[in-house]
Amino acid sequence: MITLRMYVERKGWNVPHIIVNTNLWQEKKEEVMKTIIDRDLQFPGAELDAVQKDRLLEIAKACPISKILEGQINVRSFVLHEEDIEEKIKYSNNDITVLWKPSFCKHSARCVSQLPEVFDVKARPWINIEGAATERIIEQVNRCPTGALTYLKKA
Ligand code: SF4
Repeated sequence: MITLRMYVERKGWNVPHIIVNTNLWQEKKEEVMKTIIDRDLQFPGAELDAVQKDRLLEIAKACPISKILEGQINVRSFVLHEEDIEEKIKYSNNDITVLWKPSFCKHSARCVSQLPEVFDVKARPWINIEGAATERIIEQVNRCPTGALTYLKKA
């Protein structure tokens, strides 16, 4: 909806209203559940010809949310077991100490794929605490799904 509105405004088209109706249903075939989302666009009161409407349909299909939903989505679930903490390995810079608890790490590779400048399993040590700004490291540590990564701020 926002993507369409931005496009319409940029083009200077007269489109007073954009209505998007969606319909979601599921079909099961050979034990595989398929989810289908239909999206119907309407532009009541708009001065648009067929070519412009088709263009808006293409814009709607290209919006970031559509791309996420049309791509492959994997739901990955993790749980934190506090009692599993045995060992903590520390990496410090001037601002923070990052703690890595190997027994917590479920090797989701989230840290490695999202901040390879810092988290690299082929390097020794595998965490390069100088590889990014402290705020960016904290952001990534907070994304660790299992709590294997935590940090302490230096006083
Ligand atoms: S994000 Fe956390 S659980 Fe995933 S590999 Fe990195 S440290 Fe391990």
